Amino acid sequence: MPVEHIKLVLETTLGKSIADATNEEIYAALINIVQGLAANKNKIPHGRKLYYISAEFLIGKLLSNNMINLGIFDDVRDLLKEYGKDITDIEELELEPSLGNGGLGRLAACFLDSLATLGLSGDGIGLNYHFGLFKQTFKNNLQTEIPDHWLSPLGWLTRTGEGYDVIMAGKKYHSTMYDLYVTGYKGRANKLHLFDLDTVDDTLIADGIGFNKKKISKNLTLCLYPDDSDDDGRKLRIYQQYFMVSNAAHLIIEESLSRGSDLHDLFDYAVIQINDTHPTMVIPELIRQLGEHGINMTEAIDIVSKCCAYTNHTILAEALEKWPLSYLEEIVPQLVPIIEVLDNRIRRKFNDEKVAIIDSNDTVHMARLDIHYTYSTNGVASLHTEILKNSELKDFYNLYPEKFNNKTNGITYRRWLLQANPELADYIAKKIGPGFIRYSEELSDFEVYLNQEDTLNDLLTIKKVKKTQLADYLLKTRNITVDTESIFDMQTKRLHEYKRQQLNLLWVIKRYLEIKQGLIPKRKVTVFFGAKAAPAYTIAKDIIHAIIVISKIIDADPVASKYLQVVMVDNYNVTLAEKMIPACEFSEQISLASKEASGTGNMKYMLNGAVTIGTEDGANVEIHNFVGDKNIYIFGMQSDEVIKAYEKGSYNSKSYYKKDPVLKKAVDFLVGKEAMSLGNKENLKRLYDELLNKDWFMTFPDFSEYCKVREKAYEDYEDREAFAKKCGINIARAGFFSSDRTIKEYNNDIWHLEAN
Ligand SMILES: *Cc1c(COP(=O)(O)O)cnc(C)c1O
Repeated sequence: MPVEHIKLVLETTLGKSIADATNEEIYAALINIVQGLAANKNKIPHGRKLYYISAEFLIGKLLSNNMINLGIFDDVRDLLKEYGKDITDIEELELEPSLGNGGLGRLAACFLDSLATLGLSGDGIGLNYHFGLFKQTFKNNLQTEIPDHWLSPLGWLTRTGEGYDVIMAGKKYHSTMYDLYVTGYKGRANKLHLFDLDTVDDTLIADGIGFNKKKISKNLTLCLYPDDSDDDGRKLRIYQQYFMVSNAAHLIIEESLSRGSDLHDLFDYAVIQINDTHPTMVIPELIRQLGEHGINMTEAIDIVSKCCAYTNHTILAEALEKWPLSYLEEIVPQLVPIIEVLDNRIRRKFNDEKVAIIDSNDTVHMARLDIHYTYSTNGVASLHTEILKNSELKDFYNLYPEKFNNKTNGITYRRWLLQANPELADYIAKKIGPGFIRYSEELSDFEVYLNQEDTLNDLLTIKKVKKTQLADYLLKTRNITVDTESIFDMQTKRLHEYKRQQLNLLWVIKRYLEIKQGLIPKRKVTVFFGAKAAPAYTIAKDIIHAIIVISKIIDADPVASKYLQVVMVDNYNVTLAEKMIPACEFSEQISLASKEASGTGNMKYMLNGAVTIGTEDGANVEIHNFVGDKNIYIFGMQSDEVIKAYEKGSYNSKSYYKKDPVLKKAVDFLVGKEAMSLGNKENLKRLYDELLNKDWFMTFPDFSEYCKVREKAYEDYEDREAFAKKCGINIARAGFFSSDRTIKEYNNDIWHLEAN
């Protein structure tokens, strides 16, 4: 769209000149324009259409992203500037949608972007959580959760006239569907459908994020992952899941019928990707609904199994969902006879308790239901898929080797490079042209430039610019001061023991103690953490507490604070990630080998020229293969060693504590005088005890090697040119990790959609 035309449309929409409009008015007008452009690109699919069902869509702010994808961002920015308006001020007005939790939800968002970019017809289906996960604040050095009130009349969601009747626990609920457009880069537009209930009552929330869990008509879509520490909370999760998939099944049937399906051929019209186990009930529900359309059970099972594919995201036992059959009998009795038929078939066919859907305790194993009754089960990185096949889901792999496949995760370059780091994106485009934005493999053309000193200096300059921008932002929004001459080392991701933020923290303590002893480092390091802990996850919250306490101890020390700073950023979300990741120099990807299915944070950091310090876990293994030993810092146990140690039950954290005095000092510091006088005894002691008596995710055995590798990384950093080259190689070899590549693989191997 030529710029004069944009100006005309903008002023017509505004009903006044740009100069006279407020930022709110401009924001509203831009939403309008984007929606109009997107509507024209929302074409009816040829052939199959994908429905990506997910409990989470961590989509981030949409204004810039949509304008970039529609090719009007630069013109709009420049036009507004002519009238004294700043696009970043307008973007500040947008609240980040709180529809996700972490990597799984962000992956869903990247996939929607890539689907539309590749011209593939694929809509997302989820729920319209009014308060999302929660907003994280720190009070008394502890995480506190407050509702994340992100819904606003001025936003991207459009209330549609569509909705369906959903019966739960014998009561009829009528849904409302909200839509927003998903634009592709120079591609088509698809939709994200979010279902809601009109009766949901926001005022039910009180006392942090607590609410009455029994009033389903009022609470159903208040929160993502409501507290499941009691029966009512667990049942609410089932209500949510069923509400999501029942609506999905209605929508899929309705759209397919309108496009000419007779439902006997539903698989020619619809393919359903089940993102983790939360949407698993779509299998029995779709069978049930096909029954209502006159299709017999045997055929319905066959049809649904040909429509559905499943993605496994984790091997952590606690995350593989299991529901008591009695809960399902109470909430979705209409599904129980179907699930029993599905289970009986498996029992008759295989006569093996280990692969049964309903076990002998009357517990329903959702992942098993998925694997038996979908045509594809994929893992999300090659190591993860191998672990599924060879250990975690071995019994199932033996039954269905043809169903198992790998789809290594990816990230969209539009958000994680163009939008987050326009300086770097423009620089690369100047060298190799803009093709890499759409064809990420072209990034490798950048590598030859790394032999020129100028390029290396330019990369360092860009990094410094991004560090300064982050420093300014943290000062402005949080009154945090950071030194841009220091090394920026970051670990940003959900707080979980398997991700081992506690390992990073032990290194921090070690360095603090060294400085206190007079061992002065060459350069200051700023260690950034960004992480939310699940509200009921006690130890995760204790780790946050410990990080904040240690950071305050260091800040208060006149000597140590010259060489070390810890910044725990509150409320880590997509908006913050976009600001932090481009400023990072060392990316901490230090999960216990075998536990991180893939990671996508690791890919975002790599693409933005950070060097990884990491274990051989998830997609780190693939990153390592691409960049080679010299451009990554790898340490720690291998996944097969870890798996064996768990099998033998041989791990004993105390033995490491006893034989490594450096580790012992760092661990003891958690309950020493300094920490205890500033922090809470209860939290610190519990963390200390957990590490000494359990340390389930084996922090201690990796500690000494981690310290060595990290020191080496910081030493290497001092050869600035050599370091810049490592950064450049990480960028140039990140092409594989575009979600465009991932989606192409899903399409070629699983979905078989036609582009249009
Ligand atoms: C990418 C991303 C994640 C996932 O990070 P991992 O390091 O892969 O766990 C989580 N949260 C946000 C906001 C993200 O952007």
